Amino acid sequence: LKDEVDRMERLSLVGQMAASITHEIRNPLAVIRGFIQLLNERSPAEQKTYFHIVLEELDRTNLIINDFLSLAQNRTAEKELFNLNDLLSDLLPLIWADANMRGQIIDLHTDASLEPILMNSKEIKQLVLNLSRNGMEAMNDKGALKIETTNLPDSVQLRVSDTGVGIPAEKLKLLFEPFYTTKTNGTGLGLVLCMSIVERHDGKIQVESTVGQGTTFIVSFSKQSASRDSRQAAEQAG
Ligand code: ADP
Ligand code: MG
Repeated sequence: LKDEVDRMERLSLVGQMAASITHEIRNPLAVIRGFIQLLNERSPAEQKTYFHIVLEELDRTNLIINDFLSLAQNRTAEKELFNLNDLLSDLLPLIWADANMRGQIIDLHTDASLEPILMNSKEIKQLVLNLSRNGMEAMNDKGALKIETTNLPDSVQLRVSDTGVGIPAEKLKLLFEPFYTTKTNGTGLGLVLCMSIVERHDGKIQVESTVGQGTTFIVSFSKQSASRDSRQAAEQAG
């Protein structure tokens, strides 16, 4: 029953989004069409600018489609007992390379006593990457991104903190709205995807932010549901 409810929720979310996605993809397509039409009549210098705009808009369309597909994909995703610390070590080279290009620092603090939890590692990797990328995008080249795990009595916690621009209190409620973005090349789907991944893991996501100082996203996975799920899996396996 729970899987069925999850599926319905996902379908209705996807349904609601189908209307907005059409709009979001038509915008860049209209821009692309307009600039291609103009290309003929313009000087080489102007053509260069237009080509640049066209390519950027094409990339944006592509990003929107990718994010949307990740959301719409049917994931009766298999979960396995996994230690979040191991997953972070796997991801570190990727995140580090990204930060390095931006001149930023990565600070990884893993709690050695962290207990494994049931997760779909592919989804949780996507969650960590999205939160990290948002953090990096909020900072200048002197920023530091901190990724931290903590073993709590009832939950396993992941914190992603940046020293970036911060989020004004009145904007906090908009963060998880589809297509809310303050970036010229943003899709506004990253956090929607994060939220849906966290919900599929019976987790919670919280945000703490101070304008001009930085932002922390806190994701908690309950151990309760992990042990319940693994018991169920064991029972089903017979
Ligand atoms: P996108 O990154 O494509 O804009 P997201 O859903 O990932 O879409 O984020 C939505 C918006 O939330 C961002 O455009 C930004 O305004 C805000 N945001 C998210 N993470 C942070 C952060 N760490 N610091 C400041 N603002 C953030
Ligand atoms: Mg994002």
